[in-house]
Amino acid sequence: MKSLYAGPVFEMAREQFHVIADHLGIPQDDRDRLLYPKRAIVVSCPIHMDDGRQRVFVGYRVQHHLTLGPAKGGTRFAANVDIGEIAALAIWMSWKCALADLPYGGGKGGVAVDPHALSMRELENLSRRYMQEMIPFVGPRVDVMAPDMGTNEQVMAWFMDTYSMYQGITVPEIVTGKPVGTGGTLGRREATGHGVAFLSFRALEALDINPVGATAIVQGFGNVGTHAALGLAARGVKLVGVSDHTVAYHDPRGLEVRALVDHVEKNGVLLGWSSEAVIDPRSLLEQPCDVLAPCAVERVIDADVARRLNCRVIAEGANGPTTPEADRVLAERNDGIFVIPDILCNAGGVVVSYFEWVQDLQQYFWSKEEVMDRLERALDRSWSMVVARAKRDGVSNRTAAMAIGVERVRKAKQARGLFP
Ligand code: NAD
Repeated sequence: MKSLYAGPVFEMAREQFHVIADHLGIPQDDRDRLLYPKRAIVVSCPIHMDDGRQRVFVGYRVQHHLTLGPAKGGTRFAANVDIGEIAALAIWMSWKCALADLPYGGGKGGVAVDPHALSMRELENLSRRYMQEMIPFVGPRVDVMAPDMGTNEQVMAWFMDTYSMYQGITVPEIVTGKPVGTGGTLGRREATGHGVAFLSFRALEALDINPVGATAIVQGFGNVGTHAALGLAARGVKLVGVSDHTVAYHDPRGLEVRALVDHVEKNGVLLGWSSEAVIDPRSLLEQPCDVLAPCAVERVIDADVARRLNCRVIAEGANGPTTPEADRVLAERNDGIFVIPDILCNAGGVVVSYFEWVQDLQQYFWSKEEVMDRLERALDRSWSMVVARAKRDGVSNRTAAMAIGVERVRKAKQARGLFP
């Protein structure tokens, strides 16, 4: 099937899917139906800029499937976003939601814009216009958005407000990741990073490594990276490397996580925190550590990087950080680097988004303890299934995790049949 989504990120999702389809023996004529998105929407978002000009930004939303419930997935604001990347991210969301046993299909959206280059007013204009353009295609039972790279709780509040103004009533369940107090749930802000740290501890346990005194490197210091670093540090793991899109730091003696977080809260970026610990960002991933947590963008661990990795655990906070070629290198290395694949490792975000949606639908809100406890139990269930499946089938954790997700979606499609 010729694809409108062609590009390196979609190609990666396609290749991963075929590895799983081969493993599960899925016949060729079932594959396109499982892989290709149900819907892809492209919109133009014209907005007023502060200097009086008008500019048009291109926005996307991909709904991979709606077999199990509404599409669910984040909205990314980044300069290089394109339809292929959004489709790949929507596909990964499908396997992730199915692995966590959530009643959702995968969705993802984005706008091709550098959010750092916009003023607050321009960001609000763009967020509202993007949601307005999406109103015919989304809904609490159709497609529920959430934050991703370049968007945050404030953007979700504008999305929710825009949708609600058109409906004439408040509809908090249209997006998740909203501020607490406007229908957001306690625990959503830290959910993804907390899950990354929680599963890293499971992996350290499996390798018999004491977290106290173990070391970690975190790439990306936004929502996921900061909470992963804080979660790791809370149980004694020493952060020896960190980066964002402006700079990378490395210090084997350890970096003060709280001070880094405070610096980013004040300045927006890591740049300017230290002049002594600066390191080439690409070589950061190759420095020795126990836990390497890529929490930024796709495809940062390619075959070359994989050959030079010097870690015991890869905790994939980001979506798609490891290419299929790198997966093959890791398998050939045969030195037991423990990969916690993205659809398991960063699932804390969508699990707590699901809790938020449920609370909004019921208008009944839970305590933080209840959210975090249910989150950890959900992650533990997925963890046990993945580890057991990998052992049983003699496959990688990624193959095991994706196989469980793909199988669940396929079973639901088979049970419902093909309309008409
Ligand atoms: P964010 O916008 O809050 O932060 C992104 C961080 O990555 C920033 O610190 C940015 O400077 C940094 N970054 C960007 N490009 C980089 C590069 N080339 N090298 C190093 N750092 C770079 O985004 P986020 O919400 O933390 O998302 C990060 C990743 O986690 C994405 O892959 C996203 O899809 C994934 N994810 C996020 C959530 C969530 O709940 N936010 C859930 C699941 C997965």
